[in-house]
Amino acid sequence: MTFSKETKHGSHDSKSSGNEFQNFALAASLLKNVAELGFTKATPVQAQVIPAALAGGDLLVSSQTGSGKTAAFLLPMIHQLIEGNPNNSPVPGRAQPKVLVLCPTRELAQQVAADAVNLVRGMKGIRIATVMGGMPYGKQIQALKGALLVVATPGRLLDLCDSKAIRLDDVKQLVIDEADRMLDMGFADDLEAIDKRCAGRNQTLMFSATFAPKIMSLANELTTDAKRIELAHAGEKHANIEQKLHWADSMSHKHKLLEHILADADLDQAVVFASTQVESEKIADTLRANGYEATALHGAMPQAVRMRRLESLRKGHTKILVATDVAARGIDVPRISHVINFGLPMKPEDYTHRIGRTGRAGRNGVAITLVEHRDRAKIRNIERFTQQDIVASVIAGLEPQAKPSFGGGGRPGGGRSGGGFGGGRSGGGGGRYGSGARSESRFGGGRSGDSRPARSADSRPARSGDSRPAGGPRFAKPKAGGQRRNFSGS
Ligand code: AMP
Repeated sequence: MTFSKETKHGSHDSKSSGNEFQNFALAASLLKNVAELGFTKATPVQAQVIPAALAGGDLLVSSQTGSGKTAAFLLPMIHQLIEGNPNNSPVPGRAQPKVLVLCPTRELAQQVAADAVNLVRGMKGIRIATVMGGMPYGKQIQALKGALLVVATPGRLLDLCDSKAIRLDDVKQLVIDEADRMLDMGFADDLEAIDKRCAGRNQTLMFSATFAPKIMSLANELTTDAKRIELAHAGEKHANIEQKLHWADSMSHKHKLLEHILADADLDQAVVFASTQVESEKIADTLRANGYEATALHGAMPQAVRMRRLESLRKGHTKILVATDVAARGIDVPRISHVINFGLPMKPEDYTHRIGRTGRAGRNGVAITLVEHRDRAKIRNIERFTQQDIVASVIAGLEPQAKPSFGGGGRPGGGRSGGGFGGGRSGGGGGRYGSGARSESRFGGGRSGDSRPARSADSRPARSGDSRPAGGPRFAKPKAGGQRRNFSGS
């Protein structure tokens, strides 16, 4: 299949006129809900995608996390559901959705479903349901009855298709969110199977951080004459996030740096990234032992525990979340002011996803990476991927003893330490968390156990699987004088 009308859009000025939601041909009830959520102007991705999706045809969109891409696809999808049900008639109680949104992780699926629920608030006849692993089957199946829009992770969806609890032959629109991550997590075969089950659809929207060759060949399979909308390329990303790194001599040095950073009075809420599940627990334990309010989050925890912890973060009860890459995907909490990379990401793309947990909804954020000299090649890879240097910084009293060699990542900046380099790292303390811990990211080959549990081994932790996901009020109505900001604002 071919890609037509290739358009390449640079950064879009959301201040320009024409970005008011009123200018889109969206249903009045939808515009009302958008206004109540405090969204005044469309974000650049919304300004491009909403009219293109309403016009019909397939889309292939590259946009960064935090750009407002969820509403960019939900608004036109929900609009078409409203159009298809003009009298708000009750829909028959079949599990045969018209819109299907696929997400790679449970957390993202919950987030997207929670956003959809907020956008259809007060509308009769438009039900949203979530399908994902780790939830009881019974309630999930119950909630599917009469749902017009289903947000799903691929594995559980196919389970339910196999058991005939859901049929996809009525799907008119398919959205694939974070397609790059889908492939990383080994969902290619599942996507193919789902594609076949909704072969009669009219439209497919595919979102991905990049248009890497593997994404293009997936798009070739799943879309027809897709129009490309390119809003993000790695080099432009995250202008609102201050990125810096601290060189560390050892694990214990990293801990001192971490605690110093977490004591910053400007820190509102923080996500600390660990490389492994075991490491995330150990860091959280150490922080708690030293008087910090920290909680771990990783994919080996029962889903009910993960949801409770995420909810606590959303409500602001948890100040510091120590998480692995997979578990933290899709977290959208505007008060996260800091992201700290304690353990380095496995892949440079993960760095971009990590730092995108801060600087949400038009705010500023700080992303700090703690790195031992032995890992400087990884920093160089990240810099190459993001096409940005990460400035090295020092904290008085916590300067590294060994200095980074030339050519390493994290060029020194702003008249601080750095510069020439004496070589080897000073020893000491290392390896406390490094060994024996299973890395959570198993990309390339098998699926991630995180969102795609082996079908036979689903532990089905108890939790009500109703259609109102506990995703929290990301699209919630802002309080008067509240915190939501317009993207065109500050
Ligand atoms: P997303 O990229 O979809 O994860 O969205 C990032 C954040 O932007 C979420 O908190 C949304 O609620 C928020 N958001 C989405 N669209 C707008 C808008 N037009 N104006 C202000 N905030 C928005």
